[in-house]
Amino acid sequence: MTATDEAWLRQRVVDAALDLAATGLSPQMSGNVSARAGDSIFITPSGIAYTDLIPDDLSEIALDGRILSGPFPPSSEWQMHCAIYKARPEAGGIVHAHSDFATVLAVMKRPIPAFHYMVAVAGGRDIRCAPYATFGTADLAAHAVAALADRKACLLAHHGQIAIGETVEAALHLAHEVETLAAQYWRALQIGEPDLLSDEEMAVNVEKFRNYGRRG
Ligand code: 13P
Ligand code: ZN
Repeated sequence: MTATDEAWLRQRVVDAALDLAATGLSPQMSGNVSARAGDSIFITPSGIAYTDLIPDDLSEIALDGRILSGPFPPSSEWQMHCAIYKARPEAGGIVHAHSDFATVLAVMKRPIPAFHYMVAVAGGRDIRCAPYATFGTADLAAHAVAALADRKACLLAHHGQIAIGETVEAALHLAHEVETLAAQYWRALQIGEPDLLSDEEMAVNVEKFRNYGRRG
């Protein structure tokens, strides 16, 4: 990767982190953002407010877990990010957030079912909720990888949500989408249990989303 490409990728990670702060998707220092750069990743540092971040503050970590550079300790969730990149070659960016409604469902260990066709943007008929494990552990990383099988997002019990994309911007977009769906589902639950779309209908929607919004 050229120095210019690296500078650009670092800036995009910082921009996504700034979006988490500006939109309130992940309050205070919660959440983390990364992007893949070949056999390594750039990831936000641990416990530093996004609004204070500059591109040189990011940590570079090899996918095998070696810290290559960075002025601060990397995000405590570096194992979760590395494990997902290893399991999902198509992933170029990852956003983890403690967004309000996704977290409300996650503390109740409730997956988001097929209450709305947009659930299919996450790749399947539901958005699973991974079992709880302590933050920053290999156990949490393994739970997240399993819950993301055939999916691009999942909830993390008693914690929040994680979204992946071909780019860091796509991952951020999906994290916002998951939060919107979580809020809509929670609101529907205030009235009652919504009917769910069938597996067949959701398979159609997943297929439609494969090329949705792509030019040409
Ligand atoms: P870091 O600041 O270490 O990235 O931790 C935030 C978080 O959300 C842990 O799950
Ligand atoms: Zn977290």
